[in-house]
Amino acid sequence: MSRCGFSLSYAEAATTVVTSLYLLDRIDQAGVPVAIVVEHSKDPLAVQTVLLGLLELLTLPVPVLLLRSDTSALGALCHGAVAAAVGTTASLRHLLPMPRTPGRPRPAEVAAVVKQCLSFVGVDRLAAATQADPDDPMWICDCATCKQRPLDWLATLESRTVRERAAFAHSVEILLDLRDELCHHASPADRQASWQAHLANAECRYDQIEQESRALARPGFLASWLSVTAPDPGLRSRARLR
Ligand SMILES: [Zn+2]
Repeated sequence: MSRCGFSLSYAEAATTVVTSLYLLDRIDQAGVPVAIVVEHSKDPLAVQTVLLGLLELLTLPVPVLLLRSDTSALGALCHGAVAAAVGTTASLRHLLPMPRTPGRPRPAEVAAVVKQCLSFVGVDRLAAATQADPDDPMWICDCATCKQRPLDWLATLESRTVRERAAFAHSVEILLDLRDELCHHASPADRQASWQAHLANAECRYDQIEQESRALARPGFLASWLSVTAPDPGLRSRARLR
């Protein structure tokens, strides 16, 4: 632990942050900004106990930064994080545990943010979903990179490097748009209500995609956030059923 921050492993996040007031007390007493990176084999904030731990941490009277995250960073901003970082590649969006056997893992598929789904999606799967329902305006992107093209254009780029650059430029603009939509609200309650509305909309979009093609897997963090934070019992019970 340093004066400016420290990192927490998944085990610490799942068991210590959530269940132990000791660590929360230590952070509170230190009274300095903390930056956290949560280690997990998949998506840590799809685990409700980990998300509860993060939200508890965000209630402390110290500045908290969430690093190395995905679109859940937007939720953290709405719930009090002073800053949150979204990784530009899959390996920078999550801190994976050390593998038990050495070796270089295969690089993950290049992914881009789908605004209505509030999620990063691999460009090949994104192309399959787009082509299954090409008339849906959800797939048309008017960012400066896509220029009102359907998002399946990203999968047609000739090399991984070019796909990565285009997906990065698109995703940064979409994430900044989402941040502005969520954080322009003056009160925390309004920001959190807006985050809830975005989550509920994304769930509806995945319902629609499942009816059309099942090309995309619904990310677990949507139900986790809804189940933990939704004020509407109907939304919470719907999220738990998934
Ligand atoms: Zn775009």
